[in-house]
Order: sequence, then structure tokens, then C-alpha cells
Amino acid sequence: MSVDINSLKKEFPILNQEVYGKSYVYLDNAATTQKPLSVIDELTGFYKTYNSNVHRGVHYLSQKATEVFESSRDKVKAFINAPLREEIIFTKGTTDSVNLVASSFARSFLKEGDEIIISAMEHHSNMIPWRIVAEQYGVKLKYISFNEDGVLSFDQFLSLFTDKTRIVAVGHVSNALGTIHPVKEMIAAAHKRSVPVLIDGAQAVPHANVDVKDLDCDFYCFSAHKMYGPTGVGVLYGKKEWLEKLPPYQGGGEMINTVTLDKVIYNELPYKFEAGTPNVADVVAFGAAIDFMKRLGIENIAVHEDQLLQYAHKRLGEIDSIRIYGNAPDKAAVISFLVGDIHPYDMGTIIDKMGVAVRTGHHCAEPVMEFYNIPGTIRASFGIYNTTEDIDRLVEAVERAKQMFS
Ligand code: PMP
Repeated sequence: MSVDINSLKKEFPILNQEVYGKSYVYLDNAATTQKPLSVIDELTGFYKTYNSNVHRGVHYLSQKATEVFESSRDKVKAFINAPLREEIIFTKGTTDSVNLVASSFARSFLKEGDEIIISAMEHHSNMIPWRIVAEQYGVKLKYISFNEDGVLSFDQFLSLFTDKTRIVAVGHVSNALGTIHPVKEMIAAAHKRSVPVLIDGAQAVPHANVDVKDLDCDFYCFSAHKMYGPTGVGVLYGKKEWLEKLPPYQGGGEMINTVTLDKVIYNELPYKFEAGTPNVADVVAFGAAIDFMKRLGIENIAVHEDQLLQYAHKRLGEIDSIRIYGNAPDKAAVISFLVGDIHPYDMGTIIDKMGVAVRTGHHCAEPVMEFYNIPGTIRASFGIYNTTEDIDRLVEAVERAKQMFS
């Protein structure tokens, strides 16, 4: 690709440090990505020069803050090709976005005996909110199954629909196995049966071009902190027709138009779903993260990460007694594995001591671990600043751990 990764790395102060006396290799990007200086500067610049509350003040700084805050909404809209800016709701993150939809949708559209379809591979963030409303409203949750390679069964998915199915909620990319699900086809199949679809795109938007108009999803959720942006900010994209039908999630300032002691008129979209003072500074910095990704080009990011993934599969695959979990033909930026009978936490600790950050555990997808009957995996996940040398360092660390435990 045209971007020089080694000079790009210099934009990330955190990557230019040593850990345990070794240069730092960060391979935990599915948990959160590191932040470039442009994002850090935008965040500190906000507090240094125009910190103010938005939408309410007539004074100069409030107007400036509102302008930049709202320009982030325009950047998000363009980034995912949403038809309308009022379809972009700022939330705390993917978890918050899914909870918003589950809670509001349930209040208006679910009753005892109804059914919801999700996959058995979901992150807990796109599973537990649905289980909470299922419990509360006496709704049945039905699970799309998957095979050993980590591929969802499309036929079994189709077989789950009945005239009681009210919504489908599915991830775009699995954070535990890296599988890219055929969400466009799944959405089309659900719409044929007049069922709306929510997509958890937390692991997709950072790695590939996502076009919500082309997907035709009804809701799409993601987090800024996995896109080189700050923590505490996420997005709910929703089709206007759906967002207008859903009741507000939280009540408070900003989400109302007028209030008397007898009557409340809710604000228009998107503010109806943005109760209270929003996370202004981080939304502003999120705008800088989108600028950063656009500067590199999402296609370049996707190509680079795919090369890393292929290289990681090849290099790790050469290690004796390794088992790679997630071998779908369509994968993104994640490789999960175990070696022999070494516990993932033990292996992760040694890898860490070699200056390489990976994640170990169930990755908030415990039913996936239950399926494979394992306590967890070691997961390496890639971002734009990673190189094949980083993967060589990982392989070296895994080999070292293997020797120590043999
Ligand atoms: N869904 C998926 C697929 C994820 O990977 C994550 C984060 N690990 C989430 C949802 C939750 O995101 P957040 O913690 O930012 O709300």
C-alpha cells in the first residue's frame, strides 16, 4: 500500500515506547485501537480552546462547540453512507447502541410469545440486551448456529423465522473468530419476511467499507474507540422510519421539545435519543479519527490488514500443535488460537513478558468457547500500524512459551 507503516507508527506515541525493555507490539486492536496524535490533539484542543456545552448557548464557544460536534455527525454520516444526518445517534458505544434499540423496540413492538433471532456467536453486547428484554416480555430468543470453521448456517437461519419473529440482531464480524457474516444476504432474507435487522458492526467499521444504504440494515451499531478514536463514544445508525417509531430510551434534557406538568413533546431526531449533555469532547475527537481513517483510505486499511491476517495464518499455522479457531473463508483482522494443552492465560502472560500485547480469555463471547469446549483462546487482532515483523515477534513469543511449558 502507499502508506509507509513505519512512519505511520510515529503518529502513535504509545507505540513508540518499550515494555519490559522491548519495543512494544500491540496486537489487541479488537479490544481497542491506539490513538494517533491528530485525535489526541483534537481532544486536548477542545478542552484548551472551546470547551462548552452544545445546542444550548448563544455564546461564542457554545456555538463553536456545537458546530464542531455536529460536523462529527456529518463525518459519520458520510463514512457509512447514511442517507440522513438525523439517522446518526451518538451513544456511549456499541453496547449502549444495542441496549437503546433492544429497550425501545421491546417497549413498542414486543409481547409475550414473540421471537427474536440472534446468532450463537454474538458478543455479549449483542446478546445480553436481547436476553434481558426476552426475560422481561416473555419473548423467545432463537440462535443461528455455526460450524467448526466458525461459519453461520444460512439454511438454519432461514428455518428460524416464524410469523412471530419480530427482529434479527447479528454481528457483522465476529470479535472472537474473525468471521465476516453475509449480512447483506441475511438482511434481504429478513426483509422478505418483513422483519427488521440490527447489525453489530463494532468489528466491521474499523476494517472495511461499510455502506448502510447498500446493506439496507434497519440499525447499525459501532464504537469510536475501535476506530482509532476515543473511548466513551459510539454510534447508532437507524433508518428514520424506525427511529421515529421507537419511543425515547432515556429521559432528560436535550431530548424534549416542550415540557409542561401535563404533557411532554419529544425532540426531533437525532436529539430524541441523546438525553443529557453528550460526550462533546470525545465526539469531536471521533471526527478527527474518521479524518485519519479517510486519509489512509479504508480500502488500503482493508488490504493491509488482510495481508497481515494471511501472514499470521501462515506463520502461526507452522507451529506444531497449534489449533486455530475460526477458519471461515471470509475473515477480518482476528486470529484466535491455542497451543497444545497450555492454558491461554499462561501463554498470554509469557507473550506479554516478550513485549507483545494479545488478549486471552473468552472475549465476551462465552457461548463460542462453550461450543469448542475450551476455556478461552489467545487472540491477536490487527490494526493499520501493525507489520509482518509484529507477527514474527508474536510467533517467537509463542515458540518461547511452548518451550517453557513443554
Ligand atoms: N460487539 C462486538 C463484536 C465487539 O467486539 C465489541 C467490543 N469488544 C462490542 C460489541 C462492544 O463494544 P463496546 O464495548 O465499545 O460497547
